[in-house]
Amino acid sequence: MSSAFPAVHVLTPNFIEMKRFFITGGAGFIGGNFILNLMKYGQVKVVNYDKLTYAGNLDTLSSIENDPNYIFVQGDICDGDKLRKLLVEYKIDRVVHFAAESHVDRSIESPGDFIQTNVVGTYELLEATRNYLGKVSGLEDFRFLHVSTDEVYGSLRAPGLFTEETPYAPNSPYAASKASSDHLVRSYFKTFGLPVVTTNCSNNYGPFQFPEKLLPLMIQKALAGEPLPVYGDGKQIRDWLFVKDHCKAILQVLEKGEAGQVYNIGGHNEKANLEVVHSLCKVLDEMVPDSPYHPHKDLIEFVTDRPGHDRRYAIDASKIQKHLGWKPEESFETGLRKTVRWYLDNNDWVSRVMSGAYRGERLGLE
Ligand code: NAD
Repeated sequence: MSSAFPAVHVLTPNFIEMKRFFITGGAGFIGGNFILNLMKYGQVKVVNYDKLTYAGNLDTLSSIENDPNYIFVQGDICDGDKLRKLLVEYKIDRVVHFAAESHVDRSIESPGDFIQTNVVGTYELLEATRNYLGKVSGLEDFRFLHVSTDEVYGSLRAPGLFTEETPYAPNSPYAASKASSDHLVRSYFKTFGLPVVTTNCSNNYGPFQFPEKLLPLMIQKALAGEPLPVYGDGKQIRDWLFVKDHCKAILQVLEKGEAGQVYNIGGHNEKANLEVVHSLCKVLDEMVPDSPYHPHKDLIEFVTDRPGHDRRYAIDASKIQKHLGWKPEESFETGLRKTVRWYLDNNDWVSRVMSGAYRGERLGLE
C-alpha cells in the first residue's frame, strides 16, 4: 500500500483537523462507525488497519473508499514490524485501537484467538507505538486511545454501578483478554510514559453491527419468522449505548482526556435482555405492518443460558460527563428506532453479510 497522503500540515487550534489517525479494527462495527463519523470533519487523514477477520466488512466503508484522505491497509495487529513501518510512514498522531475478537460466545468456543489478538496484539501495538515515539519528534499531543469494555468489571449485584475504580473481575475469556489488554495499556503509561487513555464502554448497538450480536440477530430472525432465542430467563441486565454516541465520546476523550486516565462510557439505559427483545418486537410490529409474523413477540423462545453469563452490568458515566462534558444524545427508544430503520433500509448490507459475499470481493479474492 503506497503513501497517498500529502505532506504533514501545521496543526490548527481545532484538534481534529489535520490529524493523522491510525485506526485498528476500522472495518468492524464500532471502528467503521467511528471512521465514517470522523471523515465528516474533512481535514483528517485516516489509516484503517484491519486483518479482516469474519467481523471485518469493508462494505461499511464503501462511501469513503475513494477519499484521498482515507487508506485501508490489511494487516494483523500481532505484526509488530508492519505496525512500526506504518506509524512512521504516515507520521501518525492518533492511534485508536478497536481491533479485537469481540464475541463472548466465540471466546468460550476458542479462547486462543482472543488471547492472541486482544492480549498479544495490544502488546505489539503498544511496543510499536513506544518504538515510534522514541524515533520521531514534534508529536507532543500524541494520543493512544484503547477501546475497552465494561465486561472487565464482572457481574454487578444490584444496587451499584461500575465506576473507574471498580476492581476487575472478568468472567469470560473475552472479558479476561480485554482486562489483560487494559492492564498492559496502563503499564505502558506508568512504566514508559506512553500517552494513553482507556475507555470502558457498555453494550453498543446501531448500524453496521454484525448479525451475530443480539439486536441485528433478532431483527433478521424476526423478519424471517424464525424463533428469537433468549438465553436463560432473559433477565440479564445490560446498559445500552447507541454506537454514534460512543463514537462521539471517543473523540471527546481524544480531544480533552488526560493521559493515563480511564473513562467509563454508558448510555444510562439499563435493560434486561428480554425487555430489549420485547421493545424490538413492538417496533417491528409498527415498522413492518405487512409482516405475516405479528405479533413478533410470539417468536420469543428461551434457550439454555451461556456458561459464566453475567447478570448485570451498569455504568457510572459521571466522570466523562463531569470532566469532558460528554453525555449520550439518544435514549434507548430513539436509538432502537433508528437502528431498526437502518436495518430495514439496508438489506443489501445485511444480505451480503449473510451470504458471505462481503468477504473477499473488495480485495479481489472472488
Ligand atoms: P467487531 O468484532 O465488530 O470488529 C473488530 C474488528 O477488528 C474487525 O474489523 C476485525 O477484522 C478486526 N480484527 C480482529 N482481529 C484483528 C487483528 N488481529 N488485527 C487487526 N484487526 C483485527 O468489534 P466491535 O464491536 O466493533 O468492537 C470494537 C472494540 O470495542 C473492541 O475492542 C471491543 O472489545 C470494544 N467494545 C465493544 C462493545 C460492543 O458492544 N460491541 C462494547 C464495548 C467495547
